[in-house]
Amino acid sequence: MTLETYHFETGMYRPPSEGGSASLLVRFTRNCPWNHCAFCSMYKTEKFSLRPVDEIKADIDAMAALAEQMRTLSEAKGGPDGAVTRDGVLALLNKEPALEQHPGLAMLVHWLMAGAKTAFIQDANSLIMKTPDLVAALAHLKTTFPHIRRITTYARARTVAQKSAQDLEAIRKAGLDRLHLGLETGDDELLKFIKKGVTSEGQIKGGRKAVAAGFQVSEYWMPGLGGRKNPWTMPGTRPGSSMPSTLIISAPGPSGPFPEPRFTRWSRTERSP
Ligand code: SF4
Repeated sequence: MTLETYHFETGMYRPPSEGGSASLLVRFTRNCPWNHCAFCSMYKTEKFSLRPVDEIKADIDAMAALAEQMRTLSEAKGGPDGAVTRDGVLALLNKEPALEQHPGLAMLVHWLMAGAKTAFIQDANSLIMKTPDLVAALAHLKTTFPHIRRITTYARARTVAQKSAQDLEAIRKAGLDRLHLGLETGDDELLKFIKKGVTSEGQIKGGRKAVAAGFQVSEYWMPGLGGRKNPWTMPGTRPGSSMPSTLIISAPGPSGPFPEPRFTRWSRTERSP
């Protein structure tokens, strides 16, 4: 057994809600194909690339092989059938010390010990993949881990809006359940200012198409992004506008990882009197 045998990639980022449910992180693409948003430094030094479907499938197979090793060793150590236990993981590391250097092993162990129920597709905009490739990769994930109950991903509203209804339905049927979309603001001037690359109409169109195809939609709104001068930051709050019927709004708060988000200070400096 070598590190190469069990190689799989794990990206840096996932939504906060995918940590609490200990999601399996499966990297379908690398980094962000847009990468222009003024407030975002997540992938600024990295180049976007699509990953071949065979490479993604090989990653999933490597995860499954490692999981099987851990289950077998856990049972040999007296653990319940099909479960991964601490003793089983320690037995694996004892047998193969090189795996301590595996960058994704801790994530995989966490997922297995938490019940192996959810998965998150990385990185920033998985829907940029060709639909047949995305469907094939999702199908392989579902077949390999049939006990997964929910699969989610980040996506750009503009990319969702550009997909046909048929393509979105095919992706939904292949097992993708939820899209995490960066709304940030519903104000067109502000969207332009932050270089989001989409208008409020585009955000609404993308959200509506996603809901119509059966996706759950989780929108990330940034309170304070417009500064004190600009209260129109939520789509639907400007008179005459409308918004998708299903919205889960997530926003950084005082108890979040960034108590005073950098973009808030930046927007105050740049936009407030
Ligand atoms: S689309 Fe998302 S990941 Fe890409 S630059 Fe904008 S906020 Fe960052």
